[in-house]
Amino acid sequence: MFVGHFALGFAAKRTVPRVPLAVLFLAAQLADTLWPILIAAGIEDVRIEQNSNPFLLLDFISYPYSHSLLLLAIWGIALGAIYRASASASPGESASASVVLFALVVSHWVLDWITHRPDMPLYPGGPRFGLGLWNSVVATVCIELVMFGVGVWIYARATRARDAVGRWAFVGLVALLLLAYLASLGGTAPPSVAALATVALVGAAITFAIAWWVDRHRATV
Ligand SMILES: [Zn+2]
Repeated sequence: MFVGHFALGFAAKRTVPRVPLAVLFLAAQLADTLWPILIAAGIEDVRIEQNSNPFLLLDFISYPYSHSLLLLAIWGIALGAIYRASASASPGESASASVVLFALVVSHWVLDWITHRPDMPLYPGGPRFGLGLWNSVVATVCIELVMFGVGVWIYARATRARDAVGRWAFVGLVALLLLAYLASLGGTAPPSVAALATVALVGAAITFAIAWWVDRHRATV
C-alpha cells in the first residue's frame, strides 16, 4: 500500500493535534523508510521482476527488520519513547501521542498484510502472511483512494490554513502523493535495486519535509 499509509497519518492529526504531520507520516511509513536503507546496506533483499500487474513488480524476498510485525511493534515503542523524550508536552498528551505513533507504525503491517502476497513476516524467520489485494489493481486503487480521500478530509477539517502556504502547499502535498501513486501504476519496473532504494529514500525525505512545512502553516481547529 502507498497512499493508504499516508491516509492514516493525515487522519491521526485529529487525535493528536500537537504531533507534527511529518512525524505522523514517519510513523505510518516507518517500515517503508527503514526498508530502502536496509536494502542498500544489503541486510534485506528484494528482486525486481516483470509483471503486467504494476503492484507485483517487486518480489520481497526478505525484510524481517523493516516489515515483520514483531519488529514494527518494537520500532513503534521506540518511536513513541523518542517522541516522549523530545517533545515538550503534558504527560497526558505525550502518552496519547506515544500510543498513536505506536499504532501508526504497526498499522503499516496490517495494511501491507491486506495488500501484499504472503510475504509479510510475523517475526524474523517466522511464517509470512498476505491477503493479496494487489492481485486486483482496480480493487486496490479504489480502496486506497477512498482511504486517502477520507484521511485528507479529516486532516483538512482538523486544521486550518494560517496563510497561503498552509493552503496551497497542502494542496501540493496531496497532489504530489497522488501523482506518485498514479505514476507507480504506469507499470515500469525500476532499472535496478539501487535505483529503487534511492528513489524510495529521497521520495520519503521530500514528502516528510513538505509535510513538516505544510503543518507549520496550519493551525489546529
Ligand atoms: Zn511497506
